[in-house]
Amino acid sequence: MNEFQIIQKYFATKKLTQANKIAKIGDDAAVFNISNSMDIVQSLDTLVEGVHFPINASAEALGYRALAVCISDIAAMGAIPHSFLMGLTLPKISTAWLEKFSQGLADCAQKHNIALIGGDTTKGPLCISIQCQGLVPKGASLLRSGAKAGDIICITGELGDAAASLNYLTADKPNNNQHAITQLLKKFWYPESQIQVSQELRAINATSAIDVSDGLLQDLNHIVSTSNVGAEINLASIPISNALMSLVTKEEALKYALYGGDDYTLIVTIPKKNQQQLNLLQQQFPQIKQIGVITSNSNQIIDENKKPLYITGYQHKWNSN
Ligand code: ADP
Ligand code: MG
Repeated sequence: MNEFQIIQKYFATKKLTQANKIAKIGDDAAVFNISNSMDIVQSLDTLVEGVHFPINASAEALGYRALAVCISDIAAMGAIPHSFLMGLTLPKISTAWLEKFSQGLADCAQKHNIALIGGDTTKGPLCISIQCQGLVPKGASLLRSGAKAGDIICITGELGDAAASLNYLTADKPNNNQHAITQLLKKFWYPESQIQVSQELRAINATSAIDVSDGLLQDLNHIVSTSNVGAEINLASIPISNALMSLVTKEEALKYALYGGDDYTLIVTIPKKNQQQLNLLQQQFPQIKQIGVITSNSNQIIDENKKPLYITGYQHKWNSN
């Protein structure tokens, strides 16, 4: 079974969700109305040692990344982060580790001007769970389900670097292209904040958004299936960094971009009628790239030659009995 099947079968079920009148499971964050003018969005992300990051990872980088990936879901909703809670499970006490971890966490929190407001600390295998909440004007959050045929598909940053960096996370052998490797690793550990760019895209009537955590195609597929539309992607326009191109072949780089996870850029759809505003916004935020269009071809993602693209990406999987 994979994670999505488990959620559907056991948790997004009537017995667990029937009391809920407002927020449906399945988007990057849950949405709650709190006043006449504002909604709250809430997301939770867990990082497990040996699964999401290697044993003996830099504590400072880990602190930063743990919060950054949770904030990424808030950006994907078009919201502004407000505060966070942290569940921390530690196998042992190392004051040096805790100093560095808390510093990395604080760097990310300060960058977003948000505070840690609670959590839980336990003993066990190293695991960090962060719940972040954010604010968005009532009814304005960017859902996965809002894409319409004809919308422009945008991506807010280069793809593939973080997935490719996994090859170098634990590599100790020297590589003569260390500069490029360092750039890839930076993308993995310090995902760039997408909060500002998502606000700007929401302001030009974005219809849907998701953050790329599991790979471009798998995450675009969430938009396509929940919006009941299709997509045509121009593979040649997918932004890939010079660093990645210098380390692997063009074909491999494209595979990382399409199927690799951990990028934490956003896929955002914009109505065709806002094309001009989008072009203007791209002058201010050149990292925004137009990579395709939403089609009415239900649930199908094709390339510029109309060839269906195989949809896969990162998934947690278990053998069930
Ligand atoms: P993301 O990649 O945006 O963090 P996930 O793929 O982890 O989202 O989760 C997909 C959806 O399923 C989200 O809406 C999430 O809140 C929900 N979800 C994940 N795990 C559970 C669970 N154990 N119980 C209820 N809902 C869950
Ligand atoms: Mg997400």
